[in-house]
Amino acid sequence: MEITRRGFLIATGAVGSGVALSTLGLNIDPVRAYADELDKSRRLRAAKQVVTTCCYCSVGCGLICSVDKTTGKIFNIEGDPEHPINEGSLCAKGAGFFDLTEANKHRLTKVLYRKPYGLEWEEKDWDFALSRIARLVKDTRDKGFVERNAKGERVNRCESIGHYGSSNVDNEECWLITVKSRALGLVYIDHQARV
Ligand code: SF4
Repeated sequence: MEITRRGFLIATGAVGSGVALSTLGLNIDPVRAYADELDKSRRLRAAKQVVTTCCYCSVGCGLICSVDKTTGKIFNIEGDPEHPINEGSLCAKGAGFFDLTEANKHRLTKVLYRKPYGLEWEEKDWDFALSRIARLVKDTRDKGFVERNAKGERVNRCESIGHYGSSNVDNEECWLITVKSRALGLVYIDHQARV
């Protein structure tokens, strides 16, 4: 059985908060979602709000970050309706901004490594990861570097490595990655935002 928001208010008024609605055979998922929304809007009203700009692309959409004054933590990020560029709207990347904060329990926080042909993930430290990446890049580039093309023209390019940018790379990081990739002679450089 489903319950509407109006039904929820009537039901909570009738049975009081001490009684679990599920015991009445009601589907309380919408009720929970609505209660969460109510809680969130209450917190939003009491929050410190800070405006900022999305870092992901040159559109430069405005964001409002709501900070819980008690914990000092951001608990909501949404489009700024008063911003002249986006007027409150955000693309999927901007709309997912909150998931980049520490509130997202699924964020990757450690290095996980799986050996070639291995089946298990192993936990490693960043020194291991960076040394291994550097080794593989050097070895691959040394083998695949092309100084001159078939016509004898100098091209100095590395065709054996490609770089594919992540959706969580911002403008400045994209610039750095492109400069680094070009310096290595890479020609296959792309970014998730183009897909
Ligand atoms: S919300 Fe989307 S369109 Fe706006 S600046 Fe961020 S990435 Fe660009």
